[in-house]
Amino acid sequence: MKIALYHSGQDHSLDVANDLKQLLLNENFEIDDVNPDIVITIGGDGTLLSAVHKYRALMNKVRFVGVHTGHLGFYTDWRDYELEKLVAALKEDHGEEVGYPLLEIAVQYEGEKKPVIYNAVNESTLKKISGTLVADVYIGGVLFERFRGDGLCVSTPTGSTAYNRSVGGAIVHPRLKVLQMAEIASINNRVFRTVGASLILAPNEKITIIPVAQGTVNFTSDREDTVGRVIKQVEYRIAKEEVHFAKYRHTGFWNRVQNAFIGKDNEV
Ligand code: NAD
Repeated sequence: MKIALYHSGQDHSLDVANDLKQLLLNENFEIDDVNPDIVITIGGDGTLLSAVHKYRALMNKVRFVGVHTGHLGFYTDWRDYELEKLVAALKEDHGEEVGYPLLEIAVQYEGEKKPVIYNAVNESTLKKISGTLVADVYIGGVLFERFRGDGLCVSTPTGSTAYNRSVGGAIVHPRLKVLQMAEIASINNRVFRTVGASLILAPNEKITIIPVAQGTVNFTSDREDTVGRVIKQVEYRIAKEEVHFAKYRHTGFWNRVQNAFIGKDNEV
């Protein structure tokens, strides 16, 4: 089995990556950063998101494992003091995996013939840094509303606990292959009106957002962002590919949500 190690670049993550590499080599695993079967990330959730973007071209064959070096992560199952246990689990690997939906985002920039395609694990946002984002929202090609506000956040089910949750979106179980659009500080008064709630769309539905008044519209896809390019249209759908995680220990989704946001001390 070929394994790639991807770390956050911080001193502690680098130390953990070196220790893990040695343990893997001792057990005759092959280290291959170019064409791996498994990518082990060492850092936090952000490190895992960056690794998924780096290995996007291998999405159909690669599985990810997250080791977290800081506070509890949402995508990271192993702690930095559990490296021996992780290597033992890798030795018993039988291809166990769980797949989570990804967003496919097609951004049509002004002056370009074809849209640029992005994939997001968590979410993609369209935001205005200053001033109001005015954008027409189409669902399935039909105009739904003219949005006015700070921005819009379209998330995956696993991303629903990230930025989406902070802006009041619902938490969605990742077995539901749906996408969610949440508002970021929409303007609602007697003159301007938006739906004022987050929408959860069926797996085969698409959302198209067309900024009306331009200015600087900031586009993000997980950690990537583009500022300063004129965006003509952005189309969101659930991607055909999924991101796969090696599953050696099972933490149920609602357990994860409870651990992350409520904590065991608050158990009833
Ligand atoms: P980061 O790596 O510092 O992450 C920010 C926080 O978001 C961390 O606490 C991380 O554990 C948490 N997080 C990431 N993915 C999560 C998920 N699926 N469920 C629950 N928590 C999650 O920041 P970054 O690298 O700049 O951005 C990575 C992600 O952080 C973004 O995709 C976004 O979802 C999230 N984020 C959230 C907010 C917010 O809630 N206001 C702001 C910025 C970024």
